[in-house]
Amino acid sequence: MAVSFQGFRSLVENNPDAISLIDRRGEILYGSASSTKMFGYQPEEIVGRNCLDLIHPEDRDHANGTLQEVLATPPGPFHWDARVLHKDGTYCWVESTLSNLLFEPEVQAIVMQQRDINARCIAETQRQAYADELTRSNLRLEEFARIAAHDLREPLLTISLYSEMILKKTQMDATGKQMAQIVVDSATRMVTLIEGLLSFASTGLHEPPRFVDLRHAVAQATQNLASPIRTSGAAIVVGPLPVVKSNESHLVSIFQNLLSNALKYRTERPLRIGIKAEQRGPDWVVKIDDNGLGIANENQARIFMPFLRVASRTVPGCGLGLAVCKKIVEELGGTIWVESKLGEGSTFCFTLCADKNTKIPELAYGESV
Ligand code: ADP
Repeated sequence: MAVSFQGFRSLVENNPDAISLIDRRGEILYGSASSTKMFGYQPEEIVGRNCLDLIHPEDRDHANGTLQEVLATPPGPFHWDARVLHKDGTYCWVESTLSNLLFEPEVQAIVMQQRDINARCIAETQRQAYADELTRSNLRLEEFARIAAHDLREPLLTISLYSEMILKKTQMDATGKQMAQIVVDSATRMVTLIEGLLSFASTGLHEPPRFVDLRHAVAQATQNLASPIRTSGAAIVVGPLPVVKSNESHLVSIFQNLLSNALKYRTERPLRIGIKAEQRGPDWVVKIDDNGLGIANENQARIFMPFLRVASRTVPGCGLGLAVCKKIVEELGGTIWVESKLGEGSTFCFTLCADKNTKIPELAYGESV
Protein backbone atom coordinates (compact mmCIF):
# COMPACT_ATOMS: atom_id res chain seq x y z
CA MET A 1 0.00 0.00 0.00
CA ALA A 2 1.63 3.26 -1.08
CA VAL A 3 0.63 6.35 0.86
CA SER A 4 1.38 8.89 -1.77
CA PHE A 5 -0.85 11.75 -0.68
CA GLN A 6 1.77 14.11 0.81
CA GLY A 7 -0.57 16.30 2.85
CA PHE A 8 -2.21 13.22 4.35
CA ARG A 9 1.18 11.68 5.09
CA SER A 10 2.52 14.76 6.88
CA LEU A 11 -0.73 15.01 8.88
CA VAL A 12 -0.32 11.36 9.91
CA GLU A 13 3.33 11.59 10.87
CA ASN A 14 2.96 14.73 12.94
CA ASN A 15 -0.10 13.49 14.77
CA PRO A 16 0.41 12.49 18.42
CA ASP A 17 -2.33 9.85 17.98
CA ALA A 18 -1.38 6.51 16.45
CA ILE A 19 -2.73 6.34 12.91
CA SER A 20 -3.02 3.11 10.98
CA LEU A 21 -4.50 2.14 7.68
CA ILE A 22 -6.38 -1.14 7.66
CA ASP A 23 -8.19 -3.10 4.99
CA ARG A 24 -11.79 -4.31 5.13
CA ARG A 25 -10.82 -7.43 7.15
CA GLY A 26 -8.90 -5.37 9.72
CA GLU A 27 -5.42 -6.23 8.40
CA ILE A 28 -2.93 -3.48 9.15
CA LEU A 29 -1.45 -1.96 5.97
CA TYR A 30 0.43 0.91 7.54
CA GLY A 31 1.23 2.12 11.09
CA SER A 32 2.43 5.65 11.87
CA ALA A 33 5.56 6.33 13.92
CA SER A 34 3.48 7.20 16.98
CA SER A 35 2.13 3.59 17.04
CA THR A 36 5.58 2.66 18.39
CA LYS A 37 5.23 5.11 21.25
CA MET A 38 1.72 4.01 22.08
CA PHE A 39 2.00 0.22 21.67
CA GLY A 40 5.75 -0.48 21.63
CA TYR A 41 5.75 -2.15 18.18
CA GLN A 42 7.92 -0.97 15.29
CA PRO A 43 5.64 -0.20 12.31
CA GLU A 44 6.97 -3.26 10.44
CA GLU A 45 6.03 -5.50 13.39
CA ILE A 46 2.37 -4.66 13.07
CA VAL A 47 1.98 -4.40 9.30
CA GLY A 48 0.30 -7.56 8.07
CA ARG A 49 -1.32 -8.37 11.45
CA ASN A 50 -5.04 -8.14 12.00
CA CYS A 51 -5.81 -5.23 14.33
CA LEU A 52 -8.62 -7.28 15.96
CA ASP A 53 -6.02 -9.85 17.12
CA LEU A 54 -4.38 -7.14 19.24
CA ILE A 55 -7.65 -6.34 21.02
CA HIS A 56 -8.54 -7.87 24.38
CA PRO A 57 -10.82 -10.92 23.80
CA GLU A 58 -13.62 -9.34 25.88
CA ASP A 59 -13.64 -6.20 23.68
CA ARG A 60 -13.14 -7.93 20.33
CA ASP A 61 -16.81 -8.47 19.37
CA HIS A 62 -17.59 -4.82 20.03
CA ALA A 63 -14.57 -3.72 17.92
CA ASN A 64 -15.49 -6.10 15.11
CA GLY A 65 -19.08 -4.78 15.20
CA THR A 66 -17.77 -1.23 14.78
CA LEU A 67 -15.59 -2.33 11.84
CA GLN A 68 -18.67 -3.85 10.15
CA GLU A 69 -20.61 -0.63 10.80
CA VAL A 70 -17.97 1.57 9.20
CA LEU A 71 -17.84 -0.81 6.21
CA ALA A 72 -21.63 -0.65 5.83
CA THR A 73 -21.93 3.13 6.33
CA PRO A 74 -18.96 4.91 4.77
CA PRO A 75 -17.27 7.18 5.54
CA GLY A 76 -18.24 7.11 9.26
CA PRO A 77 -16.57 8.00 11.55
CA PHE A 78 -17.31 5.32 14.16
CA HIS A 79 -15.61 4.91 17.55
CA TRP A 80 -14.74 2.09 19.88
CA ASP A 81 -13.01 1.98 23.25
CA ALA A 82 -11.06 -1.22 23.81
CA ARG A 83 -8.02 -2.67 25.54
CA VAL A 84 -5.17 -3.10 23.08
CA LEU A 85 -2.19 -5.42 23.58
CA HIS A 86 1.08 -3.57 24.16
CA LYS A 87 4.31 -5.25 23.05
CA ASP A 88 5.26 -5.71 26.73
CA GLY A 89 2.22 -8.02 27.13
CA THR A 90 -0.01 -5.57 29.05
CA TYR A 91 -3.27 -4.14 27.79
CA CYS A 92 -3.95 -0.39 27.63
CA TRP A 93 -7.26 1.38 27.03
CA VAL A 94 -7.39 3.01 23.61
CA GLU A 95 -10.07 5.04 21.89
CA SER A 96 -10.18 4.22 18.17
CA THR A 97 -11.91 6.30 15.52
CA LEU A 98 -12.50 4.64 12.15
CA SER A 99 -13.20 6.41 8.87
CA ASN A 100 -13.93 4.39 5.77
CA LEU A 101 -11.85 5.88 2.92
CA LEU A 102 -11.75 2.65 0.89
CA PHE A 103 -13.30 4.47 -2.03
CA GLU A 104 -10.92 7.45 -1.87
CA PRO A 105 -8.42 6.77 -4.69
CA GLU A 106 -5.62 8.46 -2.69
CA VAL A 107 -6.09 6.30 0.40
CA GLN A 108 -8.08 3.12 -0.41
CA ALA A 109 -8.12 2.03 3.21
CA ILE A 110 -9.91 2.45 6.51
CA VAL A 111 -8.15 5.11 8.57
CA MET A 112 -7.89 4.18 12.23
CA GLN A 113 -6.88 6.95 14.63
CA GLN A 114 -6.03 5.70 18.13
CA ARG A 115 -5.70 7.69 21.33
CA ASP A 116 -4.35 6.46 24.66
CA ILE A 117 -7.17 6.78 27.24
CA ASN A 118 -5.58 4.44 29.77
CA ALA A 119 -5.07 7.09 32.47
CA ARG A 120 -8.66 8.29 32.03
CA CYS A 121 -10.09 4.74 32.19
CA ILE A 122 -7.99 3.79 35.23
CA ALA A 123 -9.07 7.00 37.01
CA GLU A 124 -12.70 6.27 36.07
CA THR A 125 -12.42 2.66 37.34
CA GLN A 126 -10.89 3.90 40.60
CA ARG A 127 -13.54 6.60 40.95
CA GLN A 128 -16.25 3.99 40.40
CA ALA A 129 -14.63 1.66 42.97
CA TYR A 130 -14.52 4.52 45.54
CA ALA A 131 -18.14 5.45 44.74
CA ASP A 132 -19.24 1.80 45.15
CA GLU A 133 -17.37 1.54 48.46
CA LEU A 134 -18.93 4.80 49.66
CA THR A 135 -22.39 3.52 48.74
CA ARG A 136 -21.74 0.24 50.58
CA SER A 137 -20.40 2.08 53.61
CA ASN A 138 -23.41 4.46 53.63
CA LEU A 139 -25.76 1.48 53.45
CA ARG A 140 -23.96 -0.17 56.38
CA LEU A 141 -24.20 3.08 58.38
CA GLU A 142 -27.88 3.47 57.53
CA GLU A 143 -28.56 -0.09 58.56
CA PHE A 144 -26.69 0.49 61.81
CA ALA A 145 -28.65 3.70 62.50
CA ARG A 146 -31.92 1.92 61.68
CA ILE A 147 -31.25 -0.98 64.03
CA ALA A 148 -29.94 1.29 66.80
CA ALA A 149 -32.92 3.65 66.50
CA HIS A 150 -35.37 0.75 66.39
CA ASP A 151 -33.90 -0.92 69.49
CA LEU A 152 -33.69 2.35 71.43
CA ARG A 153 -37.30 3.26 70.75
CA GLU A 154 -38.89 0.49 72.83
CA PRO A 155 -37.14 1.23 76.18
CA LEU A 156 -37.60 4.94 75.61
CA LEU A 157 -41.33 4.59 75.04
CA THR A 158 -41.46 2.67 78.33
CA ILE A 159 -39.54 5.46 80.14
CA SER A 160 -41.84 8.05 78.61
CA LEU A 161 -45.02 6.13 79.57
CA TYR A 162 -43.96 5.31 83.14
CA SER A 163 -42.59 8.77 83.89
CA GLU A 164 -45.94 10.22 82.80
CA MET A 165 -47.73 7.74 85.07
CA ILE A 166 -45.44 8.65 88.00
CA LEU A 167 -46.18 12.32 87.38
CA LYS A 168 -49.93 11.70 87.35
CA LYS A 169 -50.29 9.13 90.12
CA THR A 170 -47.63 9.97 92.69
CA GLN A 171 -47.96 12.57 95.40
CA MET A 172 -45.07 15.03 94.93
CA ASP A 173 -44.17 18.53 95.99
CA ALA A 174 -43.76 21.26 93.37
CA THR A 175 -40.01 20.61 92.90
CA GLY A 176 -40.57 16.87 92.47
CA LYS A 177 -43.28 17.56 89.88
CA GLN A 178 -41.01 19.96 88.02
CA MET A 179 -38.23 17.37 87.89
CA ALA A 180 -40.60 14.60 86.79
CA GLN A 181 -41.93 16.89 84.05
CA ILE A 182 -38.35 17.42 82.79
CA VAL A 183 -37.95 13.62 82.55
CA VAL A 184 -41.25 13.34 80.63
CA ASP A 185 -40.31 16.18 78.24
CA SER A 186 -36.81 14.83 77.62
CA ALA A 187 -38.10 11.32 76.98
CA THR A 188 -40.74 12.68 74.57
CA ARG A 189 -38.11 14.72 72.76
CA MET A 190 -35.85 11.71 72.49
CA VAL A 191 -38.68 9.57 71.08
CA THR A 192 -39.23 12.27 68.41
CA LEU A 193 -35.50 12.30 67.62
CA ILE A 194 -35.32 8.54 67.36
CA GLU A 195 -38.41 8.36 65.18
CA GLY A 196 -36.84 11.02 62.93
CA LEU A 197 -33.63 9.04 62.79
CA LEU A 198 -35.53 5.87 61.97
CA SER A 199 -37.40 7.60 59.15
CA PHE A 200 -34.13 9.14 57.87
CA ALA A 201 -32.38 5.77 57.87
CA SER A 202 -35.33 4.04 56.15
CA THR A 203 -35.79 6.46 53.25
CA GLY A 204 -33.29 4.59 51.09
CA LEU A 205 -35.50 1.52 50.85
CA HIS A 206 -36.75 1.78 47.29
CA GLU A 207 -39.68 0.37 45.41
CA PRO A 208 -39.39 0.36 41.60
CA PRO A 209 -40.40 3.75 40.09
CA ARG A 210 -43.96 4.18 38.84
CA PHE A 211 -45.90 7.00 37.20
CA VAL A 212 -46.92 9.42 39.96
CA ASP A 213 -49.23 12.38 39.48
CA LEU A 214 -47.63 15.03 41.67
CA ARG A 215 -51.08 16.48 42.35
CA HIS A 216 -52.01 13.23 44.10
CA ALA A 217 -48.81 13.35 46.14
CA VAL A 218 -49.61 16.95 47.19
CA ALA A 219 -53.22 16.01 47.99
CA GLN A 220 -52.03 13.12 50.17
CA ALA A 221 -49.54 15.37 52.00
CA THR A 222 -52.16 18.07 52.65
CA GLN A 223 -54.59 15.44 53.87
CA ASN A 224 -51.98 14.17 56.34
CA LEU A 225 -51.51 17.75 57.55
CA ALA A 226 -55.23 18.65 57.54
CA SER A 227 -55.33 19.68 61.19
CA PRO A 228 -52.31 22.10 61.29
CA ILE A 229 -53.35 23.52 57.90
CA ARG A 230 -56.81 24.28 59.31
CA THR A 231 -55.39 25.79 62.51
CA SER A 232 -52.95 28.02 60.63
CA GLY A 233 -55.61 29.28 58.21
CA ALA A 234 -53.04 28.85 55.39
CA ALA A 235 -54.10 29.45 51.79
CA ILE A 236 -52.41 26.80 49.66
CA VAL A 237 -52.39 27.46 45.94
CA VAL A 238 -51.42 24.56 43.70
CA GLY A 239 -50.29 25.38 40.17
CA PRO A 240 -49.77 22.95 37.28
CA LEU A 241 -47.93 19.81 38.34
CA PRO A 242 -46.66 17.00 36.13
CA VAL A 243 -46.81 13.23 36.19
CA VAL A 244 -43.32 11.85 36.85
CA LYS A 245 -41.76 8.42 36.97
CA SER A 246 -40.88 8.19 40.64
CA ASN A 247 -41.89 6.84 44.00
CA GLU A 248 -45.19 8.11 45.41
CA SER A 249 -44.57 7.60 49.13
CA HIS A 250 -41.22 9.38 48.88
CA LEU A 251 -42.79 12.33 47.06
CA VAL A 252 -45.59 12.55 49.66
CA SER A 253 -42.89 12.62 52.32
CA ILE A 254 -41.06 15.52 50.59
CA PHE A 255 -44.24 17.60 50.19
CA GLN A 256 -45.30 16.81 53.74
CA ASN A 257 -41.96 17.90 55.22
CA LEU A 258 -41.82 21.11 53.17
CA LEU A 259 -45.46 22.00 53.84
CA SER A 260 -45.11 21.22 57.52
CA ASN A 261 -42.09 23.56 57.72
CA ALA A 262 -43.99 26.34 55.93
CA LEU A 263 -46.73 25.93 58.57
CA LYS A 264 -44.25 25.87 61.47
CA TYR A 265 -42.02 28.75 60.42
CA ARG A 266 -44.74 31.29 59.70
CA THR A 267 -45.13 34.86 60.92
CA GLU A 268 -48.16 36.79 62.13
CA ARG A 269 -49.04 37.53 58.49
CA PRO A 270 -51.80 35.39 56.90
CA LEU A 271 -49.88 32.38 55.56
CA ARG A 272 -49.75 31.85 51.79
CA ILE A 273 -48.15 28.71 50.34
CA GLY A 274 -47.71 28.08 46.62
CA ILE A 275 -46.81 24.82 44.90
CA LYS A 276 -45.95 24.62 41.23
CA ALA A 277 -43.57 22.99 38.72
CA GLU A 278 -41.67 24.32 35.72
CA GLN A 279 -39.87 22.32 33.07
CA ARG A 280 -36.18 23.24 32.80
CA GLY A 281 -34.17 21.29 30.22
CA PRO A 282 -34.42 17.61 31.07
CA ASP A 283 -35.83 18.30 34.55
CA TRP A 284 -38.92 19.46 36.35
CA VAL A 285 -38.22 22.08 39.00
CA VAL A 286 -40.85 21.81 41.74
CA LYS A 287 -41.22 24.93 43.89
CA ILE A 288 -42.91 25.33 47.26
CA ASP A 289 -42.97 28.94 48.39
CA ASP A 290 -44.19 30.60 51.57
CA ASN A 291 -44.34 34.08 53.04
CA GLY A 292 -43.00 32.93 56.41
CA LEU A 293 -39.94 33.75 58.53
CA GLY A 294 -37.40 33.30 55.73
CA ILE A 295 -33.85 31.98 56.19
CA ALA A 296 -30.63 34.01 56.44
CA ASN A 297 -28.17 33.53 53.56
CA GLU A 298 -25.52 31.88 55.74
CA ASN A 299 -27.99 29.18 56.88
CA GLN A 300 -29.49 28.29 53.50
CA ALA A 301 -27.09 25.44 52.66
CA ARG A 302 -26.64 24.21 56.27
CA ILE A 303 -30.30 23.54 57.01
CA PHE A 304 -30.23 20.42 54.81
CA MET A 305 -27.73 18.78 57.18
CA PRO A 306 -29.14 16.17 59.60
CA PHE A 307 -30.07 17.54 63.05
CA LEU A 308 -29.26 21.12 62.09
CA ARG A 309 -31.93 23.51 63.38
CA VAL A 310 -31.95 27.26 63.08
CA ALA A 311 -35.39 27.73 64.53
CA SER A 312 -36.16 28.58 68.11
CA ARG A 313 -36.35 25.52 70.39
CA THR A 314 -39.97 26.33 71.09
CA VAL A 315 -40.92 25.22 67.56
CA PRO A 316 -41.27 21.42 67.57
CA GLY A 317 -38.90 19.42 65.37
CA CYS A 318 -35.66 17.48 65.40
CA GLY A 319 -33.80 18.91 62.41
CA LEU A 320 -34.26 15.91 60.14
CA GLY A 321 -37.12 16.98 57.82
CA LEU A 322 -34.95 18.70 55.21
CA ALA A 323 -32.21 16.05 55.50
CA VAL A 324 -34.85 13.43 54.63
CA CYS A 325 -36.01 15.56 51.65
CA LYS A 326 -32.42 15.94 50.43
CA LYS A 327 -31.73 12.24 50.76
CA ILE A 328 -34.88 11.31 48.81
CA VAL A 329 -34.37 13.92 46.08
CA GLU A 330 -30.75 12.87 45.58
CA GLU A 331 -31.71 9.20 45.44
CA LEU A 332 -34.21 10.10 42.74
CA GLY A 333 -31.34 11.77 40.85
CA GLY A 334 -32.26 15.41 41.60
CA THR A 335 -31.06 18.32 43.71
CA ILE A 336 -32.76 20.45 46.35
CA TRP A 337 -32.08 24.00 47.45
CA VAL A 338 -33.75 27.02 49.00
CA GLU A 339 -34.07 30.60 47.83
CA SER A 340 -35.03 32.86 50.68
CA LYS A 341 -34.97 36.32 52.19
CA LEU A 342 -35.02 36.67 55.94
CA GLY A 343 -38.32 38.17 57.08
CA GLU A 344 -39.98 37.76 53.69
CA GLY A 345 -40.34 34.05 52.96
CA SER A 346 -38.72 31.03 51.34
CA THR A 347 -38.99 29.01 48.16
CA PHE A 348 -37.83 25.41 48.42
CA CYS A 349 -36.98 23.98 44.98
CA PHE A 350 -36.17 20.44 43.94
CA THR A 351 -35.60 18.81 40.60
CA LEU A 352 -37.11 15.61 39.29
CA CYS A 353 -36.15 13.91 36.07
CA ALA A 354 -38.76 14.66 33.40
CA ASP A 355 -39.95 11.60 31.51
CA LYS A 356 -40.34 12.51 27.87
CA ASN A 357 -43.59 10.52 27.71
CA THR A 358 -45.26 12.49 30.49
CA LYS A 359 -46.81 15.92 30.46
CA ILE A 360 -48.55 18.37 32.73
CA PRO A 361 -52.20 17.30 33.07
CA GLU A 362 -54.76 19.95 32.21
CA LEU A 363 -55.28 22.08 35.30
CA ALA A 364 -56.35 25.66 35.73
CA TYR A 365 -53.52 27.63 37.32
CA GLY A 366 -54.39 28.72 40.80
CA GLU A 367 -56.42 25.66 41.81
CA SER A 368 -56.44 25.52 45.59
CA VAL A 369 -56.60 22.70 48.09
P1 ADP B 1 -36.96 20.95 61.85
O1 ADP B 1 -38.13 21.63 61.24
O2 ADP B 1 -37.34 19.75 62.63
O3 ADP B 1 -36.10 21.89 62.63
P2 ADP B 1 -35.90 20.66 59.18
O4 ADP B 1 -34.74 19.85 58.72
O5 ADP B 1 -37.20 20.43 58.52
O6 ADP B 1 -36.00 20.38 60.73
O7 ADP B 1 -35.53 22.18 59.05
C1 ADP B 1 -34.23 22.64 59.43
C2 ADP B 1 -34.29 24.13 59.76
O8 ADP B 1 -34.55 24.86 58.56
C3 ADP B 1 -35.40 24.49 60.69
O9 ADP B 1 -34.96 24.37 62.03
C4 ADP B 1 -35.71 25.93 60.31
O10 ADP B 1 -34.85 26.81 60.99
C5 ADP B 1 -35.34 26.00 58.84
N1 ADP B 1 -36.53 25.98 57.95
C6 ADP B 1 -37.01 24.91 57.29
N2 ADP B 1 -38.06 25.25 56.54
C7 ADP B 1 -38.27 26.56 56.71
C8 ADP B 1 -39.21 27.52 56.18
N3 ADP B 1 -40.17 27.18 55.32
N4 ADP B 1 -39.09 28.81 56.61
C9 ADP B 1 -38.13 29.19 57.47
N5 ADP B 1 -37.21 28.34 58.00
C10 ADP B 1 -37.28 27.05 57.62
